[in-house]
Amino acid sequence: MHIVQVGMEYDVLKENNRIANSNYRLLKENGIRTIELMGSIGSGKTSLIIKLAERMRSKGLRVYAIAGDVTGDDDQRRMRGSGLEAISCNTGHECHLDANLVRKSLEKIDLDKYDVVFIENVGNLVCPADFPLGADYRAVVISTTEGDDMVRKHHDIFLHSDVAILNKMDIADAVGVDPEVIMSDYRKLTGGLKAMYGCSVKTEEGVDEIVSALGF
Ligand code: MG
Ligand code: ZN
Repeated sequence: MHIVQVGMEYDVLKENNRIANSNYRLLKENGIRTIELMGSIGSGKTSLIIKLAERMRSKGLRVYAIAGDVTGDDDQRRMRGSGLEAISCNTGHECHLDANLVRKSLEKIDLDKYDVVFIENVGNLVCPADFPLGADYRAVVISTTEGDDMVRKHHDIFLHSDVAILNKMDIADAVGVDPEVIMSDYRKLTGGLKAMYGCSVKTEEGVDEIVSALGF
Protein backbone atom coordinates (compact mmCIF):
# COMPACT_ATOMS: atom_id res chain seq x y z
CA MET A 1 0.00 0.00 0.00
CA HIS A 2 2.74 2.38 0.94
CA ILE A 3 4.50 1.78 -2.41
CA VAL A 4 1.31 2.53 -4.33
CA GLN A 5 0.94 5.81 -2.48
CA VAL A 6 4.52 6.80 -3.30
CA GLY A 7 3.80 6.07 -6.98
CA MET A 8 0.69 8.23 -6.95
CA GLU A 9 2.56 11.02 -5.29
CA TYR A 10 5.21 10.86 -8.00
CA ASP A 11 2.56 11.23 -10.71
CA VAL A 12 0.99 14.17 -8.90
CA LEU A 13 4.34 15.94 -8.65
CA LYS A 14 5.17 15.21 -12.30
CA GLU A 15 1.85 16.61 -13.47
CA ASN A 16 2.32 19.65 -11.24
CA ASN A 17 5.74 20.32 -12.80
CA ARG A 18 4.26 20.04 -16.30
CA ILE A 19 1.59 22.66 -15.52
CA ALA A 20 4.15 24.86 -13.72
CA ASN A 21 6.28 24.89 -16.89
CA SER A 22 3.23 25.83 -18.90
CA ASN A 23 2.39 28.65 -16.41
CA TYR A 24 5.98 29.90 -16.71
CA ARG A 25 5.72 30.03 -20.52
CA LEU A 26 2.33 31.77 -20.39
CA LEU A 27 3.69 34.44 -18.04
CA LYS A 28 6.83 34.93 -20.17
CA GLU A 29 4.76 35.25 -23.36
CA ASN A 30 2.98 38.13 -21.64
CA GLY A 31 6.24 39.74 -20.49
CA ILE A 32 5.40 39.21 -16.82
CA ARG A 33 7.88 38.69 -14.01
CA THR A 34 6.46 36.53 -11.23
CA ILE A 35 7.46 36.26 -7.60
CA GLU A 36 6.13 33.56 -5.31
CA LEU A 37 6.25 34.08 -1.54
CA MET A 38 6.21 31.09 0.77
CA GLY A 39 6.38 31.11 4.57
CA SER A 40 4.59 30.33 7.82
CA ILE A 41 1.30 31.84 8.93
CA GLY A 42 2.11 35.24 10.40
CA SER A 43 5.59 35.60 8.86
CA GLY A 44 4.44 38.73 7.02
CA LYS A 45 3.96 37.54 3.43
CA THR A 46 0.88 39.65 2.69
CA SER A 47 2.32 42.81 4.29
CA LEU A 48 5.59 42.36 2.42
CA ILE A 49 3.81 41.91 -0.91
CA ILE A 50 1.88 45.13 -0.25
CA LYS A 51 5.11 47.06 0.49
CA LEU A 52 7.03 45.62 -2.47
CA ALA A 53 4.10 46.29 -4.78
CA GLU A 54 3.85 49.90 -3.60
CA ARG A 55 7.48 50.48 -4.54
CA MET A 56 7.10 48.75 -7.90
CA ARG A 57 3.97 50.71 -8.71
CA SER A 58 5.80 53.95 -7.88
CA LYS A 59 8.31 52.93 -10.58
CA GLY A 60 5.45 52.69 -13.07
CA LEU A 61 5.10 48.91 -13.02
CA ARG A 62 1.66 47.37 -13.24
CA VAL A 63 1.35 44.82 -10.43
CA TYR A 64 -1.16 42.09 -9.62
CA ALA A 65 -1.32 39.60 -6.75
CA ILE A 66 -2.76 36.12 -6.31
CA ALA A 67 -3.58 35.56 -2.64
CA GLY A 68 -3.45 31.86 -1.81
CA ASP A 69 -5.27 30.65 1.29
CA VAL A 70 -7.22 27.58 2.33
CA THR A 71 -10.41 29.62 2.69
CA GLY A 72 -11.45 33.25 2.83
CA ASP A 73 -10.51 36.46 1.08
CA ASP A 74 -8.88 38.40 3.94
CA ASP A 75 -5.52 38.81 2.20
CA GLN A 76 -7.10 39.79 -1.09
CA ARG A 77 -9.11 42.46 0.72
CA ARG A 78 -6.01 43.79 2.49
CA MET A 79 -4.17 43.95 -0.83
CA ARG A 80 -7.04 45.72 -2.56
CA GLY A 81 -7.30 48.10 0.40
CA SER A 82 -3.73 49.20 -0.37
CA GLY A 83 -4.58 49.78 -4.03
CA LEU A 84 -3.02 46.53 -5.24
CA GLU A 85 -5.20 44.58 -7.64
CA ALA A 86 -5.62 41.02 -6.39
CA ILE A 87 -7.57 37.79 -6.65
CA SER A 88 -8.11 35.08 -4.01
CA CYS A 89 -7.00 31.55 -4.82
CA ASN A 90 -8.54 29.18 -2.28
CA THR A 91 -7.33 25.60 -2.00
CA GLY A 92 -10.43 24.44 -0.08
CA HIS A 93 -8.57 21.77 1.89
CA GLU A 94 -4.96 21.66 0.75
CA CYS A 95 -2.18 23.28 2.72
CA HIS A 96 -0.34 24.49 -0.40
CA LEU A 97 -1.05 25.99 -3.80
CA ASP A 98 -0.46 23.83 -6.85
CA ALA A 99 0.27 24.81 -10.43
CA ASN A 100 -3.22 23.94 -11.61
CA LEU A 101 -4.90 26.24 -9.07
CA VAL A 102 -2.56 29.03 -10.10
CA ARG A 103 -3.34 28.32 -13.76
CA LYS A 104 -7.06 28.78 -13.05
CA SER A 105 -6.33 32.13 -11.40
CA LEU A 106 -4.11 33.25 -14.30
CA GLU A 107 -6.97 32.49 -16.69
CA LYS A 108 -9.11 35.05 -14.83
CA ILE A 109 -6.48 37.82 -15.14
CA ASP A 110 -6.06 40.08 -18.17
CA LEU A 111 -2.35 39.28 -18.38
CA ASP A 112 -1.36 41.87 -20.96
CA LYS A 113 -2.31 44.59 -18.48
CA TYR A 114 0.45 43.64 -15.97
CA ASP A 115 4.25 43.60 -15.63
CA VAL A 116 4.60 41.81 -12.29
CA VAL A 117 2.52 39.12 -10.58
CA PHE A 118 2.97 38.13 -6.94
CA ILE A 119 1.78 34.72 -5.79
CA GLU A 120 1.29 34.34 -2.05
CA ASN A 121 1.33 30.67 -1.10
CA VAL A 122 -0.66 29.21 1.79
CA GLY A 123 1.05 29.69 5.18
CA ASN A 124 3.15 26.52 5.38
CA LEU A 125 6.88 25.76 5.34
CA VAL A 126 6.68 22.14 4.25
CA CYS A 127 4.84 21.02 1.13
CA PRO A 128 4.96 24.24 -0.97
CA ALA A 129 8.60 23.23 -1.56
CA ASP A 130 7.46 20.27 -3.67
CA PHE A 131 4.97 22.21 -5.80
CA PRO A 132 6.57 24.78 -8.08
CA LEU A 133 3.98 27.10 -9.58
CA GLY A 134 5.84 28.62 -12.54
CA ALA A 135 7.26 31.77 -10.92
CA ASP A 136 10.59 33.39 -11.83
CA TYR A 137 11.55 33.73 -8.19
CA ARG A 138 10.56 31.65 -5.22
CA ALA A 139 11.11 33.56 -1.98
CA VAL A 140 10.75 32.23 1.58
CA VAL A 141 9.68 34.69 4.26
CA ILE A 142 10.43 33.84 7.88
CA SER A 143 10.32 36.11 10.90
CA THR A 144 12.41 36.48 14.03
CA THR A 145 9.34 35.59 16.13
CA GLU A 146 9.48 32.03 14.78
CA GLY A 147 12.72 31.36 16.66
CA ASP A 148 16.33 30.98 15.58
CA ASP A 149 16.02 27.35 14.45
CA MET A 150 13.83 27.81 11.35
CA VAL A 151 16.58 27.08 8.83
CA ARG A 152 17.75 24.00 10.71
CA LYS A 153 14.17 22.66 10.87
CA HIS A 154 13.11 23.33 7.28
CA HIS A 155 15.94 22.53 4.87
CA ASP A 156 13.72 21.70 1.90
CA ILE A 157 11.92 25.00 1.62
CA PHE A 158 15.19 26.96 1.75
CA LEU A 159 16.84 24.68 -0.79
CA HIS A 160 13.83 24.88 -3.16
CA SER A 161 13.73 28.69 -3.15
CA ASP A 162 15.89 31.38 -4.75
CA VAL A 163 16.01 33.90 -1.95
CA ALA A 164 15.12 34.12 1.74
CA ILE A 165 13.79 37.07 3.71
CA LEU A 166 14.03 37.45 7.48
CA ASN A 167 11.21 39.75 8.61
CA LYS A 168 10.53 41.48 11.96
CA MET A 169 14.19 42.39 12.50
CA ASP A 170 12.95 45.34 14.61
CA ILE A 171 11.70 43.00 17.37
CA ALA A 172 14.49 40.39 17.25
CA ASP A 173 15.91 41.60 20.60
CA ALA A 174 12.50 41.65 22.25
CA VAL A 175 11.83 38.02 21.32
CA GLY A 176 15.37 36.96 22.26
CA VAL A 177 16.49 35.92 18.80
CA ASP A 178 19.89 36.63 17.27
CA PRO A 179 19.34 37.11 13.52
CA GLU A 180 22.98 36.22 12.89
CA VAL A 181 22.29 32.62 14.01
CA ILE A 182 19.58 32.30 11.34
CA MET A 183 21.72 33.97 8.67
CA SER A 184 24.68 31.76 9.52
CA ASP A 185 22.56 28.56 9.32
CA TYR A 186 21.31 29.75 5.93
CA ARG A 187 24.82 30.42 4.64
CA LYS A 188 25.90 26.94 5.74
CA LEU A 189 22.86 25.26 4.17
CA THR A 190 23.18 27.06 0.83
CA GLY A 191 26.96 27.08 0.69
CA GLY A 192 26.82 30.87 0.64
CA LEU A 193 25.32 30.77 -2.87
CA LYS A 194 21.99 32.36 -1.96
CA ALA A 195 21.18 35.49 -0.04
CA MET A 196 19.00 36.05 2.99
CA TYR A 197 17.78 39.65 3.40
CA GLY A 198 16.84 41.04 6.79
CA CYS A 199 13.97 43.49 6.91
CA SER A 200 11.13 44.89 8.92
CA VAL A 201 7.97 45.32 6.93
CA LYS A 202 6.61 47.43 9.80
CA THR A 203 9.44 50.00 9.89
CA GLU A 204 10.16 49.43 6.17
CA GLU A 205 13.86 48.94 6.95
CA GLY A 206 15.42 46.73 4.26
CA VAL A 207 12.39 46.73 1.96
CA ASP A 208 14.10 48.78 -0.79
CA GLU A 209 17.03 46.34 -0.76
CA ILE A 210 14.64 43.45 -1.46
CA VAL A 211 13.11 45.31 -4.41
CA SER A 212 16.63 45.76 -5.84
CA ALA A 213 17.59 42.16 -5.09
CA LEU A 214 14.58 40.98 -7.09
CA GLY A 215 15.89 43.02 -10.02
CA PHE A 216 13.41 45.93 -9.98
MG1 MG B 1 -1.14 36.21 4.11
ZN1 ZN C 1 0.36 20.94 1.52
